[in-house]
Amino acid sequence: MNWVDEEIVTLPRTGLETIQLSRLKKLVKRVYEKVAPYREKMNEAGIKPDDIQSLQDLRKLPFTTKDDLRDNYPFGLFTVDMEDIVRVHASSGTTGKPTVVGYTEADIRTWADVMARALSFAGVTRGDMVHNAYGYGLFTGGLGAHYGVERLGATVIPVSGGNTKRQITIMQDFGSSVLLSTPSYALNLAETIEDLGVSLDDLQLRVGIHGAEPWSENMKEEVEQKLGIRALDIYGLSEVIGPGVAMQCLESDHGMHVFEDHFLPEIVDPDTFEPLPFGEAGELVFTTLTKEAFPIIRYRTKDISRLIPETCACGRTLVRMEKITGRTDDMLIIRGVNVFPSQVEHVLVGIDGVEPHYQIEVNRQGSMDTMKVMVEVSDSVFSDEVKVLENLTKRIQREVKDLLGVSCSVKLVEPRTIQRSEGKAQRVIDNREL
Ligand code: ADP
Ligand code: ZN
Repeated sequence: MNWVDEEIVTLPRTGLETIQLSRLKKLVKRVYEKVAPYREKMNEAGIKPDDIQSLQDLRKLPFTTKDDLRDNYPFGLFTVDMEDIVRVHASSGTTGKPTVVGYTEADIRTWADVMARALSFAGVTRGDMVHNAYGYGLFTGGLGAHYGVERLGATVIPVSGGNTKRQITIMQDFGSSVLLSTPSYALNLAETIEDLGVSLDDLQLRVGIHGAEPWSENMKEEVEQKLGIRALDIYGLSEVIGPGVAMQCLESDHGMHVFEDHFLPEIVDPDTFEPLPFGEAGELVFTTLTKEAFPIIRYRTKDISRLIPETCACGRTLVRMEKITGRTDDMLIIRGVNVFPSQVEHVLVGIDGVEPHYQIEVNRQGSMDTMKVMVEVSDSVFSDEVKVLENLTKRIQREVKDLLGVSCSVKLVEPRTIQRSEGKAQRVIDNREL
């Protein structure tokens, strides 16, 4: 065996826990000293850093949610001066403002390290050509994976998303051996390969590392079969670091090893928030153990998973988490982009003549997600000229695209046509069968 971080990924539990506890203690102390909102929440809960004497004491600490990030937008939870921040990224907030995260130079190194480790779980080595089709930009996917490939010493092709035909030419000509992309984009690539009549024999692809959105076993099989590769699951989120929080190994047919030396996982009951016994499904919660600029304590991811008690055939001792099976909130992931219905609402309420009655319909055509926004307009607008309605449609499309980064179609409907709720409004009709 010659693994990246071999010693860490095979540590016996007690050894790992010793490292986790010492890192946790330092983290809590630092956060308490440096970040007023954390200090206030801990004071309210009557907790001092010295109360953290064991890993079980973690549960005494208050949770952190996206609301905390919003309330301290954009940089209020950072522990270092802006001078020491070398990069920021952002993902979707629940309304108009994004969720912002920051990294010191050391954080960027940590991130590259965990991503390099993730790649190594898929058998990626220096000789590989890594086709990175995750989007580059504010989104953590592209750059996060990019630095990991470089750290590992393989070759990265920073192709990013889109321009699918050109991607296939590049795959053929450069000999891409590893594909990094969302699972839905992997299918899109597969279909385009088929359409172009390119034979799999002309490609060198061996393995795909896919994440950033939920995908089923069926989808996995389809990707594997259509691209002739092994498709592995990778999990991550911006608030914790980005991609590289957990990664499936080649030997495991399900579940992803959590990089527990950096990210401490818990599973809590989504209603009571009480920690659940090992092996039960619930909401995944993470505490970062090594991040400098933007550490996070007990972050409620809203993702549903379970920690797998059985040890893995590969011999690594890091615990595995089950594939994400759902969310406890209404966040949708459309073409890899996180979308909250509240963001769409935020756009709609800012536009005159539009009523706050709307519905979002999501479909999958081939491997492409499509989003349709149906919204009621006022009587006066509805009886207006076609031109007025067209302009309104275009404006909604533009503003949704500007805020969410996702294009949608818009259907304006007569007043009182969208079904009124008798409780919680049904804002989303998701027809995708993943
Ligand atoms: P990312 O760059 O990973 O998309 P975001 O912060 O934009 O980071 O989104 C994180 C969310 O994406 C997670 O909370 C989860 O809902 C979803 N996600 C990420 N990876 C996976 C995965 N492998 N399976 C299912 N959902 C995932
Ligand atoms: Zn394994």
